[in-house]
Amino acid sequence: MATFAVPRDVNIKPLAPVWLFDLDNTLHNASHAIFPAITANMNTYIARVLGDGMTPAHTDAVNAARTLYWKRYGATLLGLVKHHGVKADHFLAETHGMEDLLSMIRHEKGLGQLLKRLPGRKVLLTNAPHRYSTMVLRHLGIQRHFSHHIAIESMRVHGQLRPKPSKLLLRKVMRRQQVAPRRCILVEDTLANLRTAHALGMRTAWVTQYLKVGDPIGTAHPPKRLNRPGWVDVKVKSVKHLPARLSRLRRNTVIE
Ligand SMILES: [Mg+2]
Repeated sequence: MATFAVPRDVNIKPLAPVWLFDLDNTLHNASHAIFPAITANMNTYIARVLGDGMTPAHTDAVNAARTLYWKRYGATLLGLVKHHGVKADHFLAETHGMEDLLSMIRHEKGLGQLLKRLPGRKVLLTNAPHRYSTMVLRHLGIQRHFSHHIAIESMRVHGQLRPKPSKLLLRKVMRRQQVAPRRCILVEDTLANLRTAHALGMRTAWVTQYLKVGDPIGTAHPPKRLNRPGWVDVKVKSVKHLPARLSRLRRNTVIE
């Protein structure tokens, strides 16, 4: 059997990773008050879209459409754009515009310290709109730790809106960042997004503390047990546990 020896003059050290961080329910608790408010705003919006122009659609029809589009396209918005001619910018402004947003944010302390401790570049990759995610980031005091902030408006590939978990989107992000998938680590609460990232060759970290099972945007109860699927490399309750799991998330690479 052949054996491989590493020459003495070759350093083996991990390349600095590129972190792709989700925002909602990864870096703060969106399930607490923000997602319920967004859901209510979405319901009002969808009821108007599905209605006859005078009377809003019934709640059952609204819930069915919201869930169907979220499951089929990964984002309710895509279904509304595709099937009802909704303008994305209008929908995002109406559903994410909360007067008391800042008072609704719940988060852990020490996020800035955590991001500083993690080696490598950090990119914020959120399916939320730019104005909303900027306000949340500023409130968390962590915007300076991200080299790039990619919000849903920028998630266009060949002119089409392609939010997570689109493979086309993730490939485009890697091209723009000039990074190979094996150096990327996606940190997320949404399993569908981690699954795509894993299929492309990225490492994946699943953050579970803010998760709710059932409704796609978080009106159900916290899950009792969370099994780690095969496409998740590391499961952590909080992002603050990531430094302890670094060795599993990084790949050793030979650098001459
Ligand atoms: Mg999320």
